[in-house]
Amino acid sequence: MHMRCRQTLIHLVAYCPDLIDQRAQLIRAAGSTNLRAILANKDKAVFAAEWLLSTRVLAYFNTAMEVAATDGQQWAPFQEL
Ligand SMILES: [Zn+2]
Repeated sequence: MHMRCRQTLIHLVAYCPDLIDQRAQLIRAAGSTNLRAILANKDKAVFAAEWLLSTRVLAYFNTAMEVAATDGQQWAPFQEL
């Protein structure tokens, strides 16, 4: 995790320089380069949730992201942190 990492979802998904390679996989999976749109879209956010889990960088977000990845009926939009 890079020194300035803010540990927010949008940082990890869109900006964290430690995740450039992983981010390319997410963009392929979601079919979009608009990362904010991915997070704002219920179906595509699942890709982001699964991706974040796969990166193993988000100890602080595990619980929330597991909920987002597995409980589609109770899904709520990601908050800007
Ligand atoms: Zn970072």
